[in-house]
Amino acid sequence: MRRPAVLGSTPAFPQGLPFARPSTPPLERVVARLRPSYERGALTNGPVVRALEEAVADRLGVRHVVAVSSCTSGLMLVLRHLADGAPTVLPSFTFSASAHAIAWTGGRPVFAECDPATFQLDVASARARLAPGGAVLATHVFGAPCPAEEIESLAGAIGAPVVFDAAHALGARRRGRAIGGFGDAEVFSLSPTKVVVAGEGGLVSTDHDAVAEAVRLGRDYGNPGDYDTRFVGLNARMSELHAALALESLADIDENLARRGDIARRYREGLEGVPGVACQLVDEGDESTYKDFTVAIGPELFGLTRDNVARALKHEGIDTRAYFWPPVHRQQAYAHGEPVVLPVTDDVAGRVLSLPMFPDLSLTDVDCVVDVIGAMTAHAPEIIERSPD
Ligand SMILES: *Cc1c(COP(=O)(O)O)cnc(C)c1O
Repeated sequence: MRRPAVLGSTPAFPQGLPFARPSTPPLERVVARLRPSYERGALTNGPVVRALEEAVADRLGVRHVVAVSSCTSGLMLVLRHLADGAPTVLPSFTFSASAHAIAWTGGRPVFAECDPATFQLDVASARARLAPGGAVLATHVFGAPCPAEEIESLAGAIGAPVVFDAAHALGARRRGRAIGGFGDAEVFSLSPTKVVVAGEGGLVSTDHDAVAEAVRLGRDYGNPGDYDTRFVGLNARMSELHAALALESLADIDENLARRGDIARRYREGLEGVPGVACQLVDEGDESTYKDFTVAIGPELFGLTRDNVARALKHEGIDTRAYFWPPVHRQQAYAHGEPVVLPVTDDVAGRVLSLPMFPDLSLTDVDCVVDVIGAMTAHAPEIIERSPD
């Protein structure tokens, strides 16, 4: 068994193992895709953006895909149209942008618990917090689908709108159905760490004509073309440059998803026998994009806390992230007023660790990360003694 670098031996990755690497297509392909628009002087919201919207709508089997400047702006435009300042129930175990989009549209984020095994919005907790006149915003956490149909029926019972933060989930499937077709709208991100990249960008996916129309108008200041703005919109257009990168990145999505799936399987097989390491549970029959591969460390069994493990991995040259710590309700932007009590979320957020995940991560490197983690639990008492918290 190898000896952990934190105890003074050679790091497993002296050159470093990055946490993520953007899945960028060859630049020549991006330039070729962009060239016709560029030479015509069409720089934003032109034919390449249209082609991207059509390609994604075809893939997902939805009526409308509207490209925007980011997932955050897409969520803002959708929520402005559907929820318009309503108290909106969302998980606290998500990225801050989910809550920001609610707050920027004048709504009040109402934080609910997550499930300790899937890390997804806890439906019972959401039900207890959803009041008539409210809305729901649920995240497909780390690319694994949340229980979308349960959330739809919970909201449907009181006529509340449902939006999904699908930032991680382009390419995921819930019980055979593509993510993108659930709720009133789903919003994907194309920022650099996501599965398909545009540099910056977002995609609103919806079967509802009125939602699509509101986002098309809203991304262009609310101006339908006559400069008589119909509501307070944004500049949330996507540029042709971003769309050209996104289209070429999309062309590689199946290959990249397959690689991510293989890497995730290898991590699972390797970590299965390690006490105190629980991989995110993906519901039976669902397909995750594995935007992130995230485990929960149980210190009682593993012998070390999440923070101990992250620090020891750093010594090995292995880069990790504690996604999502701190949970949103504990961030300074939200931790004021009446304290929000979410013990399950606090516990999960204190134990999670996302491991290196990107399509060209080799299975040999995955095996090495697994071995290093195994060696860590074996040397836990010595590690604590050497570098106490
Ligand atoms: C990245 C991310 C966002 C924000 O996406 P942008 O395109 O950067 O605005 C929103 N929600 C979640 C869950 C994310 O991970």
